Amino acid sequence: MKAHDGMYIGGEWRPPAAGREGDTIAVVNPADEQVIGHVPAGTAEDVDAAVRAARAAFPGWAATPPAERAARLAALRDVLAARKDEIAGTVTAELGSPPAFSEAVHAGTPVAVAGSYADMLAGYSFEEKAGNSTVLLEPVGVVGAITPWNYPLHQIVAKAAPALAAGCTLVLKPAEDTPLVAQLFAEAVDEAGFPAGVFNLVTGLGPVAGQALAEHADVDLVSFTGSTAVGRRIGAIAGAAVKRVALELGGKSANVILPGADLARAVNVGVANVMANSGQTCSAWTRMLVHTDQYEEAVALAKKAAAKYVPGERLGPLVNAKQQERVRGYIAKGVEQGARLVTGGPEAPRETGYYVQPTVFADVTPDMAIAQEEIFGPVLSILRYEDEEDALRIANGTVYGLAGAVWAGTEEEAVAFARRMETGQVDINGGRFNPLAPFGGYKQSGVGRELGTHGLAEFLQTKSLQF
Ligand code: NAP
Ligand code: MG
Repeated sequence: MKAHDGMYIGGEWRPPAAGREGDTIAVVNPADEQVIGHVPAGTAEDVDAAVRAARAAFPGWAATPPAERAARLAALRDVLAARKDEIAGTVTAELGSPPAFSEAVHAGTPVAVAGSYADMLAGYSFEEKAGNSTVLLEPVGVVGAITPWNYPLHQIVAKAAPALAAGCTLVLKPAEDTPLVAQLFAEAVDEAGFPAGVFNLVTGLGPVAGQALAEHADVDLVSFTGSTAVGRRIGAIAGAAVKRVALELGGKSANVILPGADLARAVNVGVANVMANSGQTCSAWTRMLVHTDQYEEAVALAKKAAAKYVPGERLGPLVNAKQQERVRGYIAKGVEQGARLVTGGPEAPRETGYYVQPTVFADVTPDMAIAQEEIFGPVLSILRYEDEEDALRIANGTVYGLAGAVWAGTEEEAVAFARRMETGQVDINGGRFNPLAPFGGYKQSGVGRELGTHGLAEFLQTKSLQF
């Protein structure tokens, strides 16, 4: 696995600030706990150098015609597509996801998202008319992007592609657990021919490099994806400085199975949704809501579906030992609070690697920790409802509102229920992921939207000219 000992700033790989060359972060493969490389642990000084480079590049990039920005994004899409095996291998090595999932999702989605912005620019108007005014849509400026490890390249591209499309320049601080794919992305940006300083990468620790980036006075917009705890702090910093902020935070989404639905399909797709990426998906439907008459049948189906997720095969490890402990703790708590353990449990299934058993709980009540808090592991809670109103109350009864699913006998019935859900996206009877659909949260799941034209708008500000 290739690791750079510098940071990508101003179009070149620069060593860390003088005197700090020895500060590195070890990157560990969570499947075998072996160190696979080291990257620099950037500091406030490196962040400052990167922000300066982004600021210097901003006027030129903002003035670059959208067609030329689109050409660079198309080139980026092509580099990401050409290097997809390398990307998949890197994500498998540093995140631990099984190769097939890395190829299809971790490497595949970024190609689709980068391509969507290259295409969108062709038809996008950066000018609108409103009565006697012309409204100019202008880039916000220098973006500070802070990303997590769970979909490490997707979360980078979901910020970088629209920011670059809008004419912004940016500095990225990726998660300490998955910096290698971020370095690979910087190489791809370079290969795609973006001007120096338009994209910059500072690897480092969240409370050091991440915080310095969020606090930097010359950053105009902070775009963050990660935990609600850190998101709150970043929101407060941005608020105090009166700068734009986008927060993509946690979730505890509901998979609502109404009585007319294809029960087997709804349960199978629901279990797959929770187990994918070892349960490390912010939009995962971690609460399955089933009518009391179909409850035991659904529990039996879920147990069978979960058995396919053999640790070390279809189910990868969690990203690190801390997340493994956290998830095992939640499983123990579920048992302690009286939920019925259908399959799985808190014991680690393998001696080496940060694995957790695929776990299904039944008889989960809405007040339990496993029904309220984001676990971020392969753990499904099945809850019982009496009627549709009860289902809606349970579905909406958390502080989160990121995603969800509704299954019903007809699309109309599912849509009618989805309209009443307090959440940012709902899959209707197994609807597919759409890279053009805005993604983001209601309630404490966040502020702002990513992907599609709504994701582009996050990086634009308006100037009204009256005639
Ligand atoms: P996290 O700490 O919020 O990490 C997200 C990003 O923020 C990382 O790049 C992190 O750097 C950085 N960061 C951490 N502290 C910071 C600070 N004080 N100022 C600025 N940036 C900072 O999340 P985590 O600790 O990796 O995961 C914990 C939990 O968060 C998970 O169990 C899950 O519930 C949730 N989570 C949600 C998502 C999501 O997609 N919404 C993604 C990941 C995690 P470091 O990598 O150096 O910490
Ligand atoms: Mg952290």
